[in-house]
Amino acid sequence: MKIIHVHQDHDPNVVRQRLTALGLWTTKLEDGEHVSLLASASSSALPSDEAIADIAGVVAVMCSKSPHPIMDAHAPTVDLGDGVIVGGGAPVLMAGPCSVESEEQINVAAKMVVEAGAAVLRGGCFKPRTNPYSFQGIGPQGLVWMHEAAKVYDLKIVTEAMAPQHVDVVAQYSDVFQIGARNMQNFDLLHAVGRAGKPVLLKRGLSATIDEWLQAAEHTMHAGASAVILCERGVRSFDPNTRFLFDIAAVAMIKHQYNLPVIADPSHATGRKDLIPHMGAAALAVGADGLIVETHPNPAVACSDGPQQLDPAELQAAATKWGFVK
Ligand code: PEP
Ligand code: MN
Repeated sequence: MKIIHVHQDHDPNVVRQRLTALGLWTTKLEDGEHVSLLASASSSALPSDEAIADIAGVVAVMCSKSPHPIMDAHAPTVDLGDGVIVGGGAPVLMAGPCSVESEEQINVAAKMVVEAGAAVLRGGCFKPRTNPYSFQGIGPQGLVWMHEAAKVYDLKIVTEAMAPQHVDVVAQYSDVFQIGARNMQNFDLLHAVGRAGKPVLLKRGLSATIDEWLQAAEHTMHAGASAVILCERGVRSFDPNTRFLFDIAAVAMIKHQYNLPVIADPSHATGRKDLIPHMGAAALAVGADGLIVETHPNPAVACSDGPQQLDPAELQAAATKWGFVK
């Protein structure tokens, strides 16, 4: 992959045409007034850097071996506003129910999570469920309830958009878009969410490699997302004792090799309440910038993921262990 900087006074489309004629497939990157072209070979004969540099309007030609140059340049922190910063400082707790179920439920949940030291309220209104007869989410009304509850308790909101048609309403009521594990490579969705220009919490796909995950992040950044927070939530394994296999090395790699914002989801990763406090502590120990945890005022009656949702006392205990309760 080559990164080609284009002079401000030249039309980037003319430069692109010349590059296409040399056998390069280009994508335009705009950063304020500066335009760069990402170019990869569409034929087997790659032109030399000198041949590219000779094109009128080309300022510089750089080589990138990485398939995710925007993510490589991504800041290690994501500022969600009002002092909530993911990465670089104190870890951030995101907590809330698996699904928003009612106005009362999300209000009680918001109170619980703020008392546990969380800065971000989670909760899905559009739910990706394996079985079509399971609860599919309450829909847009839930976003309104969540927004009201978050306002009362001064919390930011992260919630999932499952389809491009959800983007406008989710953007209106939330601070961070969640892309679920099952949608990590839904490229239309990554682009539609990116175009909203907000931060994205990108869950790792159930069997996605770290490279695929970073390239999915690149898709949404290239489309215009302001930032990406990667979220390790466990990958498919052979052992049914835990719901998924929590890939703690992935958290360490994203943090220490790539220096990118990364949080961990011990709830979906293990599916077991008894393991969540320990796995959350492990994730923080290897450098996670935060945790996202499922909690419900009364998990016994939860519409989804009841067995893994912490009740109020369990949340307090876990958050205390993790150092979020002051
Ligand atoms: C969720 O966070 O509610 C969820 C469905 O998670 P995942 O996409 O990781 O399964
Ligand atoms: Mn869930």
